[in-house]
Amino acid sequence: MTEQDGSAPKGIDVTRPSVARMYDYYLGGKDNFEIDREAVGRVEKAMPEIRQLAQENRAFLRRAVRYMARQGIRQFIDIGSGLPTVGNTHEIAQEIVPDARVVYVDNDPVVLQHGRAILATDVNTTVAAADMRHPAEVLGHPETVKLIDFHEPVGVLMIAMTHFLTMDERPSIMGHLRDALPSGSHLTATHVTRDGHSADAVAQIETVYAATPTPIYFREHAEVARFFDGFDLVDPGLVTIDTWRPDPDDPAPAATKWLYGGVGRKP
Ligand code: SAH
Repeated sequence: MTEQDGSAPKGIDVTRPSVARMYDYYLGGKDNFEIDREAVGRVEKAMPEIRQLAQENRAFLRRAVRYMARQGIRQFIDIGSGLPTVGNTHEIAQEIVPDARVVYVDNDPVVLQHGRAILATDVNTTVAAADMRHPAEVLGHPETVKLIDFHEPVGVLMIAMTHFLTMDERPSIMGHLRDALPSGSHLTATHVTRDGHSADAVAQIETVYAATPTPIYFREHAEVARFFDGFDLVDPGLVTIDTWRPDPDDPAPAATKWLYGGVGRKP
C-alpha cells in the first residue's frame, strides 16, 4: 500500500503510525505507510531484534492454538488479530478441529477491510469491529454472537495485546472477559517485558508508541501475571515464549526474551 497519490484512503489515519500497520511491516507485509515505516525504524534502533520478536510471537500463537484445539476448544475469539498473515488462527485451529470457529476482532480499518475480503467465503470465521477496551462490545457483537456459543468453552487470544492496557484498565476489562466465559475456557496472551533488558531501550520504544493511538507498557513478570487472574496457568506457566512448549516440528526463531506468554484455563 502506498500513499503516492497524496490522498489518504477513506477512514484511514495516515497522520499517526498505526500499530497494526507497524506490526505488518515487522512481519514483512505490504499494508503500511511511510509514517509506519519511520516509527518501525525508531523501534528497530532500540530493539534490533524486533522482526525476530514478531516471528517468535506468531510461532507462539501457532503452538498455543494447537494446544487449545487439542484440549477440545472448538471456538476462538482472536482479539486484536492484526492483518492477515501466514498461519492465521483459523488455519491452525482447523488443521486439528476442521469445523473450528474463529471470530477475529480488531479496531483498525485496514485490518477489518482485509479480514472481511479474505474470510468472506468461510462460514466458520468472521470479523468483528470492536475495541478490546469495551469487552461488552466484543462479546455482544452480532458477528461474535453468530459464531460463539457461550455455553461451550471458548479460547480467547490476546496475543501482543494486553501490553496496550493500563494497569487501571486491567481489572475491569479482564474481569469482564473472564466472567463471561464458561468453565474450561482458555485465555492465551503474550506481553512485552522489561525484565532483563536495558531501561533505555524500553523507554525509547515506549516513546515511539506513545505517539500512536496505542501506547505500550513493558512490564515485569508479576505485573503480567495479573492479567491471568482467575485462570489457572497451564504448564509451564507464564514464561518467555521461547520456553513455552517448544515444538521441534514448528521451530521458532532464536529467543529474544522480550515477550512473556502463557495459557490460562478458567476453572
Ligand atoms: N494479535 C496479533 C496482532 C498484534 S498487532 C499477533 O500477535 O500477531 C496488534 C493489533 O491489535 C492491531 O491489528 C491493532 O489494530 C489491534 N488493536 C490495537 N488496539 C486495539 C483495541 N483497543 N481493540 C481492538 N484491536 C486493537
